[in-house]
Amino acid sequence: MSFLQQIFNDTLHLLYPHLCAGCGKDLPYKHDLLCLRCIHELPHTGFASMPGNPVEKYFWGRLPIAAAHSEFYFTNDSLIQHLLHQLKYKGNDRIGLFLGESLGKTLVNSGRFNTIDALIPLPLHPDKQRRRGYNQAAVIGRGVAEVMHVPLLTGLVVKQEATETQTNKHRAERWDNVSASFTISDQQSLVGKHLLLIDDVITTGATLEACGQAILEISNIRLSIATVAHTSK
Ligand SMILES: [Zn+2]
Repeated sequence: MSFLQQIFNDTLHLLYPHLCAGCGKDLPYKHDLLCLRCIHELPHTGFASMPGNPVEKYFWGRLPIAAAHSEFYFTNDSLIQHLLHQLKYKGNDRIGLFLGESLGKTLVNSGRFNTIDALIPLPLHPDKQRRRGYNQAAVIGRGVAEVMHVPLLTGLVVKQEATETQTNKHRAERWDNVSASFTISDQQSLVGKHLLLIDDVITTGATLEACGQAILEISNIRLSIATVAHTSK
């Protein structure tokens, strides 16, 4: 780099600094998303390589899954909450791709997810997706797909109705409503596959469970689940 180029770059950097998406600190390189301190602070769970890990236990008796993993612990006012908020409500794609790649690398390294044929992002209701302009689970899925080298299938699984209005109903009744709200097109193309359902964070797990139930109706299917974060510690 010539002296003049260096001065030009430095000036540009002063005018348009690249800030850490976690703490807002100035970053030296444009392609970096987080500073080293924030990267070091990320609370990885290490669940992926553990059969019977807390996420898998969470679905025991609810959904017959092959394996499950959440990459980070989710706590209030944490770096992970801040990053997921920017992805979900500010449309920050780079954060979704970064978190998805991080999740994907762990899945690959664990060796427990190497029979996955395709990824399914947990769908939003189409109205909600239209309003928001994107589905955060699909952005994360793009990052995971990049690392795992498997296709990301968007649009095959569709959420039928908003479930928020059903919160006052009895749990069992609500469950029926929720479980009825996913439809899957072109099921024949998925027969015999091992699918990985992707979402941002597991809180109650009810929506993942309902979507998983719909997927498991496909014949000879295997299902695993992976999310960026998990709320219990
Ligand atoms: Zn930082």
